[in-house]
Amino acid sequence: MVCVSNSASPTGMERITKRRLFLACLALSGVIYFLRGRKAELRNMPAFSPHSDSGVEGIPREGDQVDETIHFLNVTSWYAPVVWGDSTESERRRGEFAYRTFRTGLVVFVLGRYSQYLLRFVVSAERYFLPGESIVYYIMTDNLRSIPDLELPEDRELRPMRVAEMPQWNHLSKVRMSLLAEAIRGTIAKEVEYLFCMDVDQEFINPVGTEILGDLVATLHPEYFGLPLYTFPYEKVKLSRAFVEEGEGDFYYTSELYGGLCAEVYALAEACSRFILQDSEMGYHAMQYEESYLNRYLINHRPTLLLSPEYSWWDSPRTLDVPIQRIVSLGRQCASLEPQNKETRKC
Ligand code: UDP
Repeated sequence: MVCVSNSASPTGMERITKRRLFLACLALSGVIYFLRGRKAELRNMPAFSPHSDSGVEGIPREGDQVDETIHFLNVTSWYAPVVWGDSTESERRRGEFAYRTFRTGLVVFVLGRYSQYLLRFVVSAERYFLPGESIVYYIMTDNLRSIPDLELPEDRELRPMRVAEMPQWNHLSKVRMSLLAEAIRGTIAKEVEYLFCMDVDQEFINPVGTEILGDLVATLHPEYFGLPLYTFPYEKVKLSRAFVEEGEGDFYYTSELYGGLCAEVYALAEACSRFILQDSEMGYHAMQYEESYLNRYLINHRPTLLLSPEYSWWDSPRTLDVPIQRIVSLGRQCASLEPQNKETRKC
């Protein structure tokens, strides 16, 4: 009887061992559950181009939702229009400029191997950029022979501007704003009313008309469009002149395209070149290069007109669809592709 009852109800020692076993199993399944969850989280993490990766801070967290209503954003909280090319407001703006006479400049830097992009850029701009308007393309280049021999209409012109050879991209990103300010001060300000600055590794694929003209014009970065403020890769290093305090800022703007009245672009370029110089003196350059300084400036001087990502788009896992892609960044698109897909896109 004692023997049976002994085997049915465990001794104190056996009871402790079973409890330990149970607890160990529980802990193990907890660890497995955590690791599986973490893996799924990493798998779902969007791919980041080197340009937009700012480390742990500034990247979207799991559960971040893109605010889809942003597609209907037509005006900011400070009443600056957000431009969608096919909207009735854009049509109205184009109508407003139809009877005005003005000249617009378009600055691109073309140094070293970037000369390969120039022909495509200009040919596509001739087709789609402010058609019928008077344009000067200011080509800031270290190689005058890279200027394509194109016959342009009478009121559109290619104007090479020589800059010294720059062996490294990193160096160019430090001096581009000051070269721009210098060029505006020296020549451009006397020649054009509006001025836009663009990266040359882009292509116009649909019309970009006078709806883009404004006093100070910035373009919404397509990868951060609709994401919450804390995901923006603003500069996080406090000592930097590009530093943005937590909670500061409105939107994240791309450096692929910005512009406005010549005087406004000069003020922007001059201020950014000062910030860059001050940081350089401390041996620092902001995380997103010029884009960081541009964003800092645009927090202090809010743009009067914002271009939607129709005007700066590239295909990446993080960009939202837009009604019409008008300007595509070939360089950033390549940067966002997986290595195996680069070849098919001719990167
Ligand atoms: N650029 C250039 N030569 C270089 C590097 C850059 O002319 O060696 C110019 C070019 O206009 C290019 C722009 O600087 O489009 C920005 O460089 P990149 O596209 O590499 O930078 P991103 O802004 O896309 O990170």
